[in-house]
Amino acid sequence: MIKRILVTGGAGFLGSHLCERLVELGHDVICLDNFFTSQKSNITHLLGRTNFDLIRHDVTLPFWLEVDEIYNLACPAAPGHYQFNPIKTLKTSVMGAINVLGMARRCRAKVLQASTSEVYGDPEVHPQREDYRGSVNPIGPRACYDEGKRAAEALFMDYHRVNRINIRIVRIFNTYGPRMHPFDGRVVSNFIRQALQGEDITLFGNGQQTRSFCYRDDLIDGMIRMMEGPDDFIGPVNLGNPDEFTVRELAELVLQLTGSTSKIIHEPLPADDPTRRRPDIGLALAKLGWQPTISLREGLQKTIEWFRNIDLTHYRPPTPNY
Ligand code: NAD
Ligand code: UDP
Repeated sequence: MIKRILVTGGAGFLGSHLCERLVELGHDVICLDNFFTSQKSNITHLLGRTNFDLIRHDVTLPFWLEVDEIYNLACPAAPGHYQFNPIKTLKTSVMGAINVLGMARRCRAKVLQASTSEVYGDPEVHPQREDYRGSVNPIGPRACYDEGKRAAEALFMDYHRVNRINIRIVRIFNTYGPRMHPFDGRVVSNFIRQALQGEDITLFGNGQQTRSFCYRDDLIDGMIRMMEGPDDFIGPVNLGNPDEFTVRELAELVLQLTGSTSKIIHEPLPADDPTRRRPDIGLALAKLGWQPTISLREGLQKTIEWFRNIDLTHYRPPTPNY
């Protein structure tokens, strides 16, 4: 069945791939984005399609559309981006959630929230399961993102309980791939760009902190499965790749795959940097039949190939338009 689908943050790294996939499936897709952390070039290839529309708008301000489904992705995701204007980040998560939920209530749309593994903070439980309530520092420099996403989850659950809105919540773990902003400061984009340009690889702390990296195609597949899944499974559900690596191992793999002679240097660990992170994806597997299929090596090869072919001068830093 062809649906009218709104993707907020649809011009971003994950959003643009989601739009692409939904357009290919034949749906009528509306991408809404304020281009804070993204480039129009992420979606220009879709502009000629009759089933794709683009709206430049900020989710903190109300919008009025008629749709069947909403994927709510609008929010800066890289630490450097979300700390650029932390108050705006919180507003984006909270007011953005209120606006999509209000719209979903009016037009009886189903709405999916792109939440994050950051709701677990610096976890004492490993790997992280959905019933773990997390260890977030509510007053630290990551709080604008972590607490904004936690508040958004609370809003989704309350709109569901009070107004019977058909919701879905996915908690996304570190995802990478082509179209990441090359200067977003995230570890995969930093390491690949540094390796290809012969710059030093900046390892924060001793590099023993861990992350579990999911390739974007696997993630988008999980997100769509969750949206299309049974109405009695609203989540939250973890979506991520359970293969865990130290950040040092990632640096070494990037050096190996790029053939770079860059050297690894150490820089201070940012405040509140989680020491380990790995999803338990038992729930996603049981309820959605979902698990990642692309290894870190394979995903990095595709991502490195993309980084080799982009024009870095094309990318601008986050642009405040508020
Ligand atoms: P991204 O920065 O590439 O995409 C975010 C998009 O939202 C951008 O296009 C940006 O311009 C837009 N945006 C930001 N504030 C907005 C606002 N106020 N109004 C309208 N648009 C706005 O990041 P991404 O990695 O594609 O992340 C997409 C979503 O997935 C985010 O909600 C993020 O929190 C979530 N997520 C991503 C990851 C990951 O590893 N990539 C992990 C966990 C959660
Ligand atoms: N990191 C690093 N060097 C960099 C960028 C990040 O060592 O140039 C580390 C960072 O300290 C963290 C991990 O890589 O431990 C993942 O960082 P990222 O910003 O990608 O995501 P998040 O911390 O939100 O998971």
